[in-house]
Amino acid sequence: LTTFDAVLGQDQAGQLMAMALEKNRVGHAYLFAGADGTGKTLFAMELAKALLCRNDQPPHSIGCSECRMVSEDNHPDLSLVQAEEGKRFITIDQARKVSHMLSRRPVQSARRVVILRDADRMNDEAANSLLKTLEEPAPYAVLILTSSRPRNLLETIRSRCQELRFAPLSPEHVQTILSRQGEHEAHLVAFAARASQGSAGRAINALESGSIESHLDILGRVIDLPKEDPFALAGELIAWLKTIAPKLEPQRVQLRETIRLMVCAYRDILMLHEGGTAEDLLHADQVDTLYTIADRLSRERLLLIIESLWTARRQIDRNASMPLVLENLFTRIGSLQHAA
Ligand SMILES: [Zn+2]
Repeated sequence: LTTFDAVLGQDQAGQLMAMALEKNRVGHAYLFAGADGTGKTLFAMELAKALLCRNDQPPHSIGCSECRMVSEDNHPDLSLVQAEEGKRFITIDQARKVSHMLSRRPVQSARRVVILRDADRMNDEAANSLLKTLEEPAPYAVLILTSSRPRNLLETIRSRCQELRFAPLSPEHVQTILSRQGEHEAHLVAFAARASQGSAGRAINALESGSIESHLDILGRVIDLPKEDPFALAGELIAWLKTIAPKLEPQRVQLRETIRLMVCAYRDILMLHEGGTAEDLLHADQVDTLYTIADRLSRERLLLIIESLWTARRQIDRNASMPLVLENLFTRIGSLQHAA
């Protein structure tokens, strides 16, 4: 057993860090960089256990009272800091708190550990206030930054951290993680894993929000355009977005994802059109539905549909009105799918 067995799919980071622990060469500042939902925070918690544990040897997950306190997030020598709920930025007060915690002596362990999640959400002022802590760390301090956008971090911060890269997860790993998350229909789990782009977090959200079922439902009707009324379909999609989130910003995020999945569906159709087989497809379960349109449309028209989906997504990015974008999109798809 090694310390990081609980983190699937990050063997390289796990081996590097296990070696540092073994040789007692753990640094004072780390940057865990990689997409959301690839295990960065979980890995940081496992590292915190290893640093604060009373036992020298792994496994730390079941062991002592220290490890249990880390798991329950009430260890006095560990803090997890992140932007407050609904807030985009980590404030300078939060950054100062991080410095303060790392300067105080540990209460009951040999170390003090602070995990700063999504550290790229610090503005320059907040980031600058951390510099002194990074330049002259207390001997017991360990600061772990996580980020899915490490390029947005100040170079002065980034250059003072040891960087560990977190790779996208394989669909098999995502599926294993999903199967531990409770009961969902197998074909939805398999789809969520394939559609996740290596992010278990994305797949879990998609399953738990019911967005996969909604996607498959909407997709079936988009394929039926122009038989479906484009305006009614746009209205229903908007109504569904409102059930997911009352605020506009999370609705946009969900709509971006819904459109991304539609692009994947039309790519699947294009692959079928070019003689691909069902196993190659994201929408392997929907292959019969997809065939109906693959048979009917030319390659050119399919490419135009994919292009119009990308255009709609860019318009959403630029804060265009969602109903308007969807009405235009579905009208356009309807006319492209109209019998030529
Ligand atoms: Zn322990």
